[in-house]
Amino acid sequence: MALQQGKHAGRLERKVALVTGGASGIGAATARQMLAQGASVALADLQTELGNKLVAELGERARFYTHDVTREADWKRLIASVEADFGGIDVVMNGAGISVPGPIDEVSYEDWQTTMRVNSDGVFLGCKYGVEALRRQGGGSIINISSSLGIRGGAIFAAYCASKGAVRMLTKSVALRCAEEGYEIRCNSIHPGAIDTPMMDAYVGEAPNREAGLAEFGALHPMGRVGRPEEIASVAVFLASDEASYITGAEIPVDGGFCA
Ligand code: NAP
Repeated sequence: MALQQGKHAGRLERKVALVTGGASGIGAATARQMLAQGASVALADLQTELGNKLVAELGERARFYTHDVTREADWKRLIASVEADFGGIDVVMNGAGISVPGPIDEVSYEDWQTTMRVNSDGVFLGCKYGVEALRRQGGGSIINISSSLGIRGGAIFAAYCASKGAVRMLTKSVALRCAEEGYEIRCNSIHPGAIDTPMMDAYVGEAPNREAGLAEFGALHPMGRVGRPEEIASVAVFLASDEASYITGAEIPVDGGFCA
């Protein structure tokens, strides 16, 4: 049976959003803001315990699904489950990702392949099955989380930069195809600068050194600080909403000026 929609006068009222990487960081912040704007949210992630804990807190309009973005069979199962549980899908946010550092003369081929599988193949599958689901719904919005490093190079991130550049161009191809075919599906990419999420842990460590590490990353950005997950989530909410009805194929840096 389809889950009941609550009575919420918000910018995403009556919309159903599927968010990958939804258990943590940017995905979790986006799920919170989408729910606050009246959407129902399906959170998908590898992190089952974290995801279940989060939806227990978020309430009845949120559900968690264990899902690996690199597995095509998982995508087929996920889309079918979300459609059965919520009655359809209006928004797909491809947020799951990993960051494995390594300059070209040090990064292993294995790390390259793992990075491409999660960050590029995962978004490809999300767009492919997302377009199918959104067409069944009569239209919708796809939001791909790339990176400022999908626009600007970074010497120590050979695989990550390439994987996020692929997301940037895939987004435009999806947007053009959907526009030309009249699918009423918009597809855009968001390009965050360094954001204070668990993904940063590997680079900045834990308290008490974490703040100093974040400040070092922040200094690389013209605004002099790293971003907060909520600052990405608010742009995702906008792109998901009908306020963005004429925006497709766009790449939106949310990076304190890093790509300017
Ligand atoms: P995060 O807190 O680590 O969240 C990412 C989530 O995706 C994690 O729960 C992660 O699980 C999950 N995930 C990884 N591989 C997956 C897979 N194969 N299938 C399903 N889920 C998977 O990181 P975040 O900062 O929120 O990152 C969200 C997105 O923003 C990513 O695409 C990232 O590249 C992008 N981004 C982040 C930053 C930043 O500075 N934080 C900057 C630019 C772009 P595990 O923990 O098990 O890996």
